[in-house]
Amino acid sequence: MQELANTQPAPHNYEEQHLMSKMTVAGVQIDTRHFIGGQRVASTETFPDHSPVDGSLLGHISSGGDAEVDAAVTAARAAFPAWSATPPAQRAAILHRIADLVEERLEDLAIVETMDNGALLRSHRRGVMPRVAHNFRFFADYLINDLHHEPFETRGHTNVVSWDPSGVCALITPWNAPLMLATWKIAPALASGDTVILKPAEWTPLTASLLCDIVAEAGLPDGVFNVVQGYGENAGAALVAHPGISRISFTGSVPTAVLVAKAAAANLTPCSFELGGKSPTIIFDDADIDLAVELAAEQYDNAGQVCLAGTRLLVQEGVAEEFLQKFEARVSRIKQGDPRDEATDMGPNIHPEHVARVDGFVQRARAAGGTIVFGGHRVSDDNLFYEPTLIMPATAGDEIVCEEVFGPVLTMQTFATDGDAIAMANGTRFGLAACIAVGDRNRAERITSQLVAGTIWVNCFFVRDLRAPFGGSRKSGVGREGGTWSFDFYSDVKNTVFSPNGWKEGA
Ligand code: NAD
Repeated sequence: MQELANTQPAPHNYEEQHLMSKMTVAGVQIDTRHFIGGQRVASTETFPDHSPVDGSLLGHISSGGDAEVDAAVTAARAAFPAWSATPPAQRAAILHRIADLVEERLEDLAIVETMDNGALLRSHRRGVMPRVAHNFRFFADYLINDLHHEPFETRGHTNVVSWDPSGVCALITPWNAPLMLATWKIAPALASGDTVILKPAEWTPLTASLLCDIVAEAGLPDGVFNVVQGYGENAGAALVAHPGISRISFTGSVPTAVLVAKAAAANLTPCSFELGGKSPTIIFDDADIDLAVELAAEQYDNAGQVCLAGTRLLVQEGVAEEFLQKFEARVSRIKQGDPRDEATDMGPNIHPEHVARVDGFVQRARAAGGTIVFGGHRVSDDNLFYEPTLIMPATAGDEIVCEEVFGPVLTMQTFATDGDAIAMANGTRFGLAACIAVGDRNRAERITSQLVAGTIWVNCFFVRDLRAPFGGSRKSGVGREGGTWSFDFYSDVKNTVFSPNGWKEGA
């Protein structure tokens, strides 16, 4: 991600600096400083935060680097012994209190997230922020009720598996679903007994700051949860290179993950990577075509800024014409506009630079001989809205078929046989997800068993259960999170072997 604009030094006058430490967005007051050891800490450098809703400047945020990261690691390490020794039931109770407060402040969180990343307010109210609360409740309850491995015997010896806290977790998150993706990592790390440092994306720093207020009010001890704001190449790079970190969980793009992996290698810090995708939506000739059209239209959700989106429509030849006719009619009803309006289906993209990047993909696909079936233009002069776009690529190897656009741009290709569909679906370097529309169960099972993907949805999309493993194959990720898989990553998993021998009488 590139810097937005001039990094501005913060004012030196104390009073001015104090005033600058707060900003108000849609009536909600937000602290613009880091949160380290339970204290708000300002940096001398700041970065500007703009709203994609109208391009306005929301405020300036403290911009951290080596010193702030070092302070956060020191605070998180100091808090680790007490938090890791806190009984699981007590840890879970605090996580539930955090969830209660997220629910109490749901409206504030929803509107601030919308102003910061441009996603629909109605989605934040009804889907995303309830999921943020659920992230905390789920991992709290899982810790108490489900985190268990049956002891097993080896020649009369008993193996007992346990999950021990590992230390300080560095969590790095993107801008497309800021608080939901951050809490999906924060909650299991805290439940595991680890302490946490979050580095939110620089395009969407605000709800992480509100979460700091919430965790403090919930009674989470100082230093257990810390936030260092700033650019990836400064705060992010310093954090992942720090030798005091025990785990790195990163969600973002493949090129950044490569940099993170290099930095982590120097300390052999274990990493979990949740990365990009170029997932297929496959429509077979026995599918319910109306359902298939709805599933395909869902791939434009969040203006296409969804890692799991099935952006390659692969349609069987016999139904391609009918599908395309209905799909075009369906997409023409998508209402673009202000994401705060309940009637809006698609809001802006995150940033003019990102829209330019999206448009670059479309123009290169056109130049390569691709057919723009519909869309293909910016909607507004402010360069924040892009039309829902469908492209028939010139060849299967085109950039538009192989690379993640992360905007409202789908491609459509046709196939003849199930074998062709599988080969095309598996034909990129990614393997995050797949969505298929099909009428026959046996056919569905045959096909899903051959697809390379971390998650497959059959005749549905985006049904998520936090017990399920979540992650990507190939370049879409390393490792899985969710349920026990999250605890496996954030913990030091231990096996203790008890002998039948050597016990004192009666002990
Ligand atoms: P990005 O890789 O540019 O940035 C992600 C985060 O990494 C940001 O917080 C950024 O500041 C930080 N960062 C940048 N350089 C860094 C460095 N050198 N060291 C440490 N941190 C650094 O990604 P983005 O543009 O914010 O997000 C979009 C990408 O995220 C897409 O590829 C999308 O598919 C992916 N994504 C994946 C999932 C998933 O669960 N698999 C979910 C959402 C988004």
